[in-house]
Amino acid sequence: MAWRDFLELNLSSRVVVFDTTLRDGEQTAGAALKPDDKVRLAEALADLGVDVVEAGFPPVSAGESSAIKEITAMGLGSKICVLSRCEKSDIDSAAKVNPDWIHVFIATSDIHLQHKLKLSRDQALEKAVSAVEYAKSFGFTVHFSAEDATRTELPFLLKVFKAVEEAGADSIDIPDTVGTAVPPAMKKITAEVVKAVKIPVAVHCHDDFGLAVANSLAGVEAGAEIVHATVNGIGERAGNASLEEIVASLRFLYGVDTSIRLEKIYRVSRLVEKLMGIVVPKNKAIVGDNAFAHESGIHVHGILGNPTTYEPVMPEVFGRRRRIVFGKHSGIHGLEAFLREYGFTVDRDKVSQILWRIKDYADAGGKVSEETVLSFAQDVYGRRSMHRSYVRNLFLMLAGNSFKAQVDLMVAGEPVSGDGEGPSSVEAALNAVSNALKKIAEFRVEDLKIHAPLVGHHSSEAEVVVSSKGVEFVGRGIGADPALAVVAAFTSAAHQIMFDSRRLEAE
Ligand code: MN
Repeated sequence: MAWRDFLELNLSSRVVVFDTTLRDGEQTAGAALKPDDKVRLAEALADLGVDVVEAGFPPVSAGESSAIKEITAMGLGSKICVLSRCEKSDIDSAAKVNPDWIHVFIATSDIHLQHKLKLSRDQALEKAVSAVEYAKSFGFTVHFSAEDATRTELPFLLKVFKAVEEAGADSIDIPDTVGTAVPPAMKKITAEVVKAVKIPVAVHCHDDFGLAVANSLAGVEAGAEIVHATVNGIGERAGNASLEEIVASLRFLYGVDTSIRLEKIYRVSRLVEKLMGIVVPKNKAIVGDNAFAHESGIHVHGILGNPTTYEPVMPEVFGRRRRIVFGKHSGIHGLEAFLREYGFTVDRDKVSQILWRIKDYADAGGKVSEETVLSFAQDVYGRRSMHRSYVRNLFLMLAGNSFKAQVDLMVAGEPVSGDGEGPSSVEAALNAVSNALKKIAEFRVEDLKIHAPLVGHHSSEAEVVVSSKGVEFVGRGIGADPALAVVAAFTSAAHQIMFDSRRLEAE
């Protein structure tokens, strides 16, 4: 980056990623993991390459404590850390789950000391020091946080950090607990702390003002060597600093490495979304649906010529794919590329006719799915039967506590149908369409995503990733109802599988 030359940076050559998805992330209002899911996520995080997994806070519940115990016993590649207040009893329960790291914390701001802990500054300092000493006596790697550090008077904050360093802490952390720092402030505080101690310094930022990632990076600019982060930026209130955004910024903007396997980021993001039940916004950086989607003709033309024109990083780097979306901003080049993928021979006249139909349709308020584009193409090119794939009928019925679904599809010119049952209309439709498609193609469902907007919008969207003989296909569908969108998405995926196998046979 050109700006690296004129900024004052005190970058460490490698930054340690301290992941707190399973602790601060799980403190998200409404999020809770079953112990099994917690273990599964810990494995995924270790596989992603995080240096430290903060697995939880043992005193919370028996389930929490036993899940953490299971995680520490797995011998994962990451260090496992647990949270603890500066209390003997907390440190004792931490010891029972056998972690590598213990993260002890105590608030140091006057607001917290007076209104929450009812302690004087001296008392807090003494508790911090004795907790660090006690935790060290178990042989743990001790990470100390001064909660609400950014609202703590700086000389007192430095005094606490120096005292815990002397007591044996291995690293210290500057939490911006309520997200009220701005990047220059975070940079200044971190610089002062880095100057005052010899042990590594961490930053832990919250997103109350949308500054968590910016503040974390400001900390790194001032010499922080550890960043606390959560996948998808989940966490209390507005969340924590997002792991994917920090890691990508460090790598591609600052040129600083972490141990994260970038190509696994998207899969882990999807897993966290699914297991935590916290939906990732479409426009979220790196992992959102639209992060690598392009509609505008000018942008698509640029992208097809050279992706760096409108993409700072290739989507494949994060395990994603580029997506060209059709609408009123579409241009001829993106459409040509799409039609070629579906086996149409490109003819400028026909392609422009299709393009105008897309624009008219979008102007009339319609959402343009890939199926819509294909149906326009079939009209314009003539209805060659092998190019026809669409949903003919979807019957849904509520019978007692479960839904029944029946689908009739046309896939690559062949009629096919299937039945299914499920606890919701979507699951019934999903089972019915899977049963139908099983008859014509071998495939496995890798991922399914449904976006059902509020009442008043008339289209739900679904995206399915299926694999067939080791090749992945992404099908997308739009429908007035989520169940219909799911069926349409599967039909589109099946269409691609059929075309792919026909192409293979022809060769
Ligand atoms: Mn926090």
